[in-house]
Amino acid sequence: MPERAALYRRYRPQTFSAIVGQEHVTRTLRNAIASGQVAHAYLLSGVRGTGKTSIARLIAKAVNCPNAKDGEPCDRCETCVAIRDGRFLDLIEIDAASNRGIDEMRDLRDKVRFAPSMGQYKVYVIDEAHQLTTEAFNALLKTLEEPPPHAMFILATTESQKIPATIVSRTQRFDLRRIPHKGVVAQLGQIVEQEKLQADPAALDAIARQAQGSLRDAESMLDMVIAFANGPITLKEVDDLLGASDWEETAALFDALAAADGAKGVELIGRLVDDGRDLRLFVRRAIEHARALVFTRATGHPPETASEQMAAKLSAQAQGLSLDQLAKIAKRLVETEQHLRTSEGTPLPLELAVLDLVTSSEKVAPPPDARRESDRPAAARPPAPPATRAEPRRDATRGSVVAIAERRVVTEAAVTVGAASPVVKLETVRKAWGELVERAKERSVGKAAQLAKAEPLAIDGATIVVGFGEEFARLLWQEKRRPELEQDLSEILKTAIRVRCVRQPGVPEAVPDDPMLRAAIDTLGRPDRIMEIE
Ligand SMILES: [Zn+2]
Repeated sequence: MPERAALYRRYRPQTFSAIVGQEHVTRTLRNAIASGQVAHAYLLSGVRGTGKTSIARLIAKAVNCPNAKDGEPCDRCETCVAIRDGRFLDLIEIDAASNRGIDEMRDLRDKVRFAPSMGQYKVYVIDEAHQLTTEAFNALLKTLEEPPPHAMFILATTESQKIPATIVSRTQRFDLRRIPHKGVVAQLGQIVEQEKLQADPAALDAIARQAQGSLRDAESMLDMVIAFANGPITLKEVDDLLGASDWEETAALFDALAAADGAKGVELIGRLVDDGRDLRLFVRRAIEHARALVFTRATGHPPETASEQMAAKLSAQAQGLSLDQLAKIAKRLVETEQHLRTSEGTPLPLELAVLDLVTSSEKVAPPPDARRESDRPAAARPPAPPATRAEPRRDATRGSVVAIAERRVVTEAAVTVGAASPVVKLETVRKAWGELVERAKERSVGKAAQLAKAEPLAIDGATIVVGFGEEFARLLWQEKRRPELEQDLSEILKTAIRVRCVRQPGVPEAVPDDPMLRAAIDTLGRPDRIMEIE
């Protein structure tokens, strides 16, 4: 049997229009190439499998193809074919990961002056460029400072923050995105069709979800599943082969619901958000999970499509949840899926659903009508009759987020009235912020990233007011992660600290996904300062 090349090699895109999910990059590149305004050095940064190497080779192709049209290579001429087959002498690929590159960079410095032998441009692609040694970077820098007109450098990296600023400033930078789920599914579908195979849409969906925006990972997984499956590819095969991580996640949600453990449920959602996962897909899977539980509960045995592991889990969970509870959960999940469509990326509808479901029997005392003007979330709840004021609780797992926010406003207002003199200087807190971020990093990179973007704005007695640029981050820290923030700050500043999280005035909700603006932010700092410059 002839050895079959890996799918990701065979289906490597050969034109810019075949690149999936990076239109913001390919459009700019094509325009530059079409108008003859190519840069001498590019930096392509992005997680694995998002198309960095493919795009680098396409740039080499497009600038050397004599028939290029609108910046798109013809993919038929001698040059295009030679590049596709990896025998084009003027495309030099250096893998900085396997060789730290000192010799290559010296060699490059010596040879870069010679004119290209086959094409118009000599293109150097340096893969995993962040792995170059300082010495190699210095050698490269000398070349980048005075590049010969026929030379072009493309640095590809998964860790652009490790590339020296002196190098970055001499490149045009593009940040590649994780490929959208839909794009990955569509690409897998095309491969299946061209391979004359059959696959359930649910199976491709599951592969794409596991690949988390890396097309190369998705194609490798599909390769494995094809080799494993005899005949059509079904969800069962994917689950069996790749591990039922989706099932485990939805199962974890139902474990939390059955145990009325809101903290666990919200933590799970936080992890999904940190990982950049599509919450609507998660909820859809959770709805399927609910259906399987109803089936198990009603018939006494799990559905036959369930894998062995999952069947055991379903049987155990079905005993802990009544049909009535399951119906309530399923109904709420269906509503949540609808809400997530219009909630623009915030996980709040799902978090509220989980907290409501674990506390649906508990009545929460509403706040007095005064203080309505405060910074709590919009008055989503109908006015309630006056009741005794509940003591504010730190435990965000009991009662809905909104109710807790309302209660907290009361105590925070009391704190503000005193306007006590600060227990530490704002300057001291700002200096300590780096250490705080480092501590958070040990627990979660996502948390650390949010804190790195936050800023201590004011101090009122022992309460530090922390500004967050995005509402969902503010709400998350105010409602769920505040205890850990207070504890960390208390330890670092060696005094008991309370925290209040506010929306930072003047910060746009989301930074536009524009490479130039992103590069500007990288250089200049926070988005609010960019706004001032504009
Ligand atoms: Zn060509």
